[in-house]
Amino acid sequence: MTPRKPVVALVGRPNVGKSTLFNRLIGRRTAIVEDVPGTTRDRIYGESDWNGVAFVVIDTGGLEAPTGLAGEPSSPANLALATDSALFVEHIQNQARLAMEEADAIILVVDGKEGLTAADLDVAEVLRTTQKPVFVAVNKAESEQRRLDAVEFWNLGLGEPIPISAYHGHGVGDLLDAVVAALPPHPTDDEEEDEAVSIAIVGRPNVGKSSLLNALLGTERAIVSEVPGTTRDPIDTHVVYNRQKIVLIDTAGIRRRGKVEPGIEKYSVLRSMRSIDRADVALLLIDATEGVTAQDAHVAGYVLEKYKGVVVVVNKWDALEKDAYTMHNFTEMVRQELQFLSYVPVIYISARTGQRIHTVLPTALEVAEARRHRLSTSELNELLRAAYDATSPPGKGGRVLRIYYGTQVSIEPPTFVIFVNDPELVHFSYERYLENQIRAYYPFTGTPIRLIFRQRT
Ligand code: GDP
Ligand code: GDP
Repeated sequence: MTPRKPVVALVGRPNVGKSTLFNRLIGRRTAIVEDVPGTTRDRIYGESDWNGVAFVVIDTGGLEAPTGLAGEPSSPANLALATDSALFVEHIQNQARLAMEEADAIILVVDGKEGLTAADLDVAEVLRTTQKPVFVAVNKAESEQRRLDAVEFWNLGLGEPIPISAYHGHGVGDLLDAVVAALPPHPTDDEEEDEAVSIAIVGRPNVGKSSLLNALLGTERAIVSEVPGTTRDPIDTHVVYNRQKIVLIDTAGIRRRGKVEPGIEKYSVLRSMRSIDRADVALLLIDATEGVTAQDAHVAGYVLEKYKGVVVVVNKWDALEKDAYTMHNFTEMVRQELQFLSYVPVIYISARTGQRIHTVLPTALEVAEARRHRLSTSELNELLRAAYDATSPPGKGGRVLRIYYGTQVSIEPPTFVIFVNDPELVHFSYERYLENQIRAYYPFTGTPIRLIFRQRT
């Protein structure tokens, strides 16, 4: 279950740089434009995250001007010309009210080049009535002088103005530090303790997904739980295994299989992706008699990209001629072809004979557990210090990377923010080295982890 993400709204006059900031916050993700029914308004949404905290950004600048304004109502130039009109003031005050209703935090964007305007004061007047956190971002503050001049925006009565350049990114990190710290805590961690673990069984047609599902449901410890009185998730199978609740995702499609026709492969990838999105852990099935295919590698890449847990399950192990090296060689091949590192478990089963079927759910649960593991800040810093002392980072242009401290900011996936003198100095190989050192301390079996490097001077 994905809890609602906190919402951050951008408000401010036209042309101050809201959409530039919006685009910087959402990065390469796509924006969603939504009509508000019964009105002429649009809302523009996008997803963003900072230090491992995900949130939704709304650009209220997407709201159209009220009818009655001269010319084309949506043109910023016309709005700017209309700055003095009462309608205009009302319009942007309404923007602010909408933001106050919908958002968990509000960023009032103002123009540092132009300085404080009457319209800024009008919006601020509305924003001062909310209990929600409001931040003043003074945009276009590229020069030192502009950053100093930003103090004039104290007059808005909304606290310390934060100078930024939405264009170049200066100051945006400080702004986001403040915003994210003010967001309501994301309900992910502790209360999920006895929540269900979601497992997706994915793989190409005929690898043995339905055979595995039947074998798993046939083991005496897996009790299929009917969800009493509801028709909730009819596509999923709810199971209790060793007292742990498990949801096997999208299993209706696996159970209700007919013959597989050529050309259907493409859809099986799409279905796998949708299941993976909903899962904590993916069981990626490989057919031992066929080896790893391009499609398997594609799905594996998707799992990592989504930072999901994964267990590679090599099925039909009974159908292979084996010697003492077969398993070892197969494992090597799997890791190479899937570009999976040594932290991903590879298990060998036969859904047909039942061989090692009993290892499947425990391995998946071990991965789910690892995704919820937290390193304490002292453990993390001790190991970072030891890692740094053992192998100092390569310098770049005479400058040396310094690591100040790190902290694990979230779980599922485990996410670490590491404060350094300059993130640019973190070479890919050194990042890999630090990840390996973290895993040497605690393996985080089967789950990608995220390292985020932040500047602290
Ligand atoms: P909006 O109407 O508030 O969404 O503003 P836009 O994002 O469309 O920006 C308005 C104008 O300001 C555009 O010409 C931008 O190129 C310019 N602009 C936006 N951000 C910056 C910035 O950080 N520095 C400077 N110098 N110009 C900016
Ligand atoms: P799905 O399309 O991924 O759900 O695959 P199925 O479970 O329907 O299996 C496809 C075919 O592989 C069937 O003919 C199964 O009998 C066969 N099969 C499944 N698991 C095994 C296994 O462990 N060993 C062998 N030899 N055949 C298997």
